[in-house]
Amino acid sequence: MKYGAIEAGGTKFVCAVSNEKLEILERISLPTTTPDETMKNVFEFFDKYDLDAIGVGSFGPIDVNKKSKTYGYITTTPKLAWANYNFVGALKDRYNIPIGWTTDVNAAALGELKKGAAVGLQSCIYLTVGTGIGGGAMINGQFLEGYGHPEMGHILIRMHPNDQFKGICPYHKNCLEGVASGPAIEDRWGKKAYELVDNEEVWKIEAFYLAQALMTYTLTINPERIVLGGGVMKQRQLFHYIRKELEKLMNNYVTMPDLDEYIVSPGLGDNSGIIGCLLLAQEVNKDEITC
Ligand code: ADP
Ligand code: ZN
Repeated sequence: MKYGAIEAGGTKFVCAVSNEKLEILERISLPTTTPDETMKNVFEFFDKYDLDAIGVGSFGPIDVNKKSKTYGYITTTPKLAWANYNFVGALKDRYNIPIGWTTDVNAAALGELKKGAAVGLQSCIYLTVGTGIGGGAMINGQFLEGYGHPEMGHILIRMHPNDQFKGICPYHKNCLEGVASGPAIEDRWGKKAYELVDNEEVWKIEAFYLAQALMTYTLTINPERIVLGGGVMKQRQLFHYIRKELEKLMNNYVTMPDLDEYIVSPGLGDNSGIIGCLLLAQEVNKDEITC
């Protein structure tokens, strides 16, 4: 049994092949250019193997609605070359095997729930704070998906009284992603994030926004754990500020789990997504055999 995995990001694709124990046999990282060029490289990598299934965790927005005519497509992405690209169709045409299809952050949530920081629980959210902000959730063994998939980065937030930044989301200006993504931090302060490490105010304001988001997710989804990943969360001091701010915002309204256990960094490091994609491949393969 061999599984393929594609963590399809806006800047790079990570592809991996594993055995049935999900031990990675080979992996590569490819730049995300045009669908023709990138997929040619993906095919070249997978063609060497006789795969049983592939799991894909993709940047988006994507169509995850099985009833939709465009299921399996990347839809309205700002990366225009990929807009309306039939990703699952391309893989099916080439390999004709089961293809698991979800968002990059849903795949990471699956990875963390089964093999990472949320093992033993029934639910978790994975939020990435990087070039963009996005969140995925696993609830009782299922992805949180309905008509489409969550877009947890684009929720509205309250501005910090000392922050005049206008926000950079092309759709909403000062939504969460617009004020708290890596590029937003760099735009606001006029410096690269790693040059701001010693400026406490930067991270307190960042935590002020992220804590609001976590309050919203806690009140609406109520997961057992929230895993925070992505480049910006490499600033470990953020965890402390976020927990403190969340406690203040919640104001003892509901009983909260121990915040040191509730808000954590990824147990799988930078591999949550790719491991999640392998798990997804394993799952769709099982589904195919049992149906
Ligand atoms: P992507 O979101 O593109 O997959 P990352 O999760 O690495 O990639 O996010 C990249 C963003 O994270 C950049 O905008 C950068 O500002 C920010 N970033 C990367 N490393 C750090 C760091 N050590 N400290 C703070 N911010 C960082
Ligand atoms: Zn937005």
